[in-house]
Amino acid sequence: MKPVLNRAFDTFIDTILPPRCIVSGEIVAEQGMLAPSVWAQVRFIEGSVCESCGFPFDYEVISGSLCASCLDYPPNFASARASFVYDEASRDMILGFKHGDQTYAVKSFAPLMLRAGREFLNRADLLVPVPLHPFRLVMRRYNQAALLAQALSKQANIPACLDLLKRTRPTQSQGHLNADERRKNVRKAFALNEKKAELVKGKTIILIDDVYTTGATVKECTKALKRAGASEVHILTLARVAREGFG
Ligand SMILES: [Zn+2]
Repeated sequence: MKPVLNRAFDTFIDTILPPRCIVSGEIVAEQGMLAPSVWAQVRFIEGSVCESCGFPFDYEVISGSLCASCLDYPPNFASARASFVYDEASRDMILGFKHGDQTYAVKSFAPLMLRAGREFLNRADLLVPVPLHPFRLVMRRYNQAALLAQALSKQANIPACLDLLKRTRPTQSQGHLNADERRKNVRKAFALNEKKAELVKGKTIILIDDVYTTGATVKECTKALKRAGASEVHILTLARVAREGFG
């Protein structure tokens, strides 16, 4: 519950500057909401998915099925789930959130992630965001994964530890790298904050990030968590790339 004065100020701001959708610019009811025309284009992940990595199948499969990539290379995490597909329609929305200071969109995103992660959130002990390297944090001023973890923590009443993992070296931006290059780029790039190590042992940890692309980053983070004794690691992201062979 916000203090009365804060709410009055929000209403005042909304009157002079009506809140707008961060993607379409249409006027919306509340800051951080996305216009229905934008949501209509987003491909939510609702049907059959790979039991392990959450890859969305285009056809019905029996529950427990795995995608080709997980059959060949079983991931080290227990499962990964995402709210929607990362494609043309959702890209602007996510880039705005990541680089464009559109941090209030987290309000719209958190409930979607709670839904996507419902299979494992009910037994989660701790939410942990994928960290940014301090250099990048200075450039961007916020870590989008940490904002998501904080919002989820509040809404689902699960503790979050925002500095459990740290980057041990800066890595290049992964946008243009293929799966193999991504794996090399993030190898040994994460370590556990030793002061918080006791939070991990025997626990079910949910790693939070904005986009799951090849899984290279979250697999490296999972390695660090398992080394510290985590019993299960699940991955929850806002969006996920859904190209075959890129899972
Ligand atoms: Zn899979």
